[in-house]
Amino acid sequence: MHIVIIGNGISGITAARYVRKLSDHRITVISDESDYFFSRTALMYVYMGHMRQKEIQPYEDWFWEKNRIERFRGKVAQVNYDSKTLQTTQGETITYDKLILATGSQSNKFDWPGQDLDGVHGLYHWQDLEAMERHSPGLQRAVIVGGGLIGIEMAEMFHSRHIPVTFLVREKSFWNLVLPADESEMINRHIIEHGIDLRLQTELKEILPDENGKCRAVITSTGEEIACGFVGITVGVSPNIGFLKGAAQEGSVQKRAHPIRSKQESIGATHF
Ligand SMILES: Cc1cc2nc3c(=O)[nH]c(=O)nc-3n(C[C@H](O)[C@H](O)[C@H](O)COP(=O)(O)OP(=O)(O)OC[C@H]3O[C@@H](n4cnc5c(N)ncnc54)[C@H](O)[C@@H]3O)c2cc1C
Repeated sequence: MHIVIIGNGISGITAARYVRKLSDHRITVISDESDYFFSRTALMYVYMGHMRQKEIQPYEDWFWEKNRIERFRGKVAQVNYDSKTLQTTQGETITYDKLILATGSQSNKFDWPGQDLDGVHGLYHWQDLEAMERHSPGLQRAVIVGGGLIGIEMAEMFHSRHIPVTFLVREKSFWNLVLPADESEMINRHIIEHGIDLRLQTELKEILPDENGKCRAVITSTGEEIACGFVGITVGVSPNIGFLKGAAQEGSVQKRAHPIRSKQESIGATHF
């Protein structure tokens, strides 16, 4: 029996570990992001210099061989449930007996003009961290869009390197959908005291390019133009299931390891 797991995040690796505990089946974990499982929640500490990449990988390199968990680096483009095969973007075919989807999420974007420019990134994947690193030297200002926990993490990351940050928050007070009013107000003050340019009740309207196709400024919903060399898009995430479209048949997949359910899924709009 060959059990193939798409995704080497916490869900995929937990599934692999438990399958190994309970069986001798062949296990392959596929990831397009990294060779080894790493703790996504610790990404910020790598940027801030508190930890190195190696230190956010919970398992030693020998763990995978010892536990006979094969790793495959590649992106699955298509699943064919009838032939029980996967196609990768590189043209490889992988056969499976059981398939576990543990593909996590990706950063939301909401069709803003300029959202695909160089210098516009979410904070989810290892590659987002690399993008932040690449753009940080000499960066005059970062604009972060979205007042949630990932947005405030990104603000702290840039702030740790003394890069000025403008923080666009749609709500009238930071995280007021979750926090009591007084505490939300206290966080506003704390953000401002740390020198972050907090703009409440302000949304992104457009991102402007320079002559090289890199972002140079944002236009906000208040009509203001703010010059910046980086735009952080932190407006939530959506399940990484786009590659299943077309191949999907209701009931074809028996197991799925994914901790996040989107609103769309929970109302039953997506079947796979
Ligand atoms: C910056 C940040 C901080 C966070 N902090 C916290 C926190 O403090 N506490 C908390 O509880 N949660 C936190 N989270 C959320 C938490 O990290 C996620 O809930 C968790 O990583 C989800 O795990 P997962 O295994 O389901 O998916 P993921 O970790 O997303 O792993 C899925 C993997 O599958 C890969 N993949 C997807 N599609 C394909 C494909 N077609 N082919 C090949 N590979 C594919 C992806 O590239 C990815 O590597 C944070 C998230 C971020 C981004």
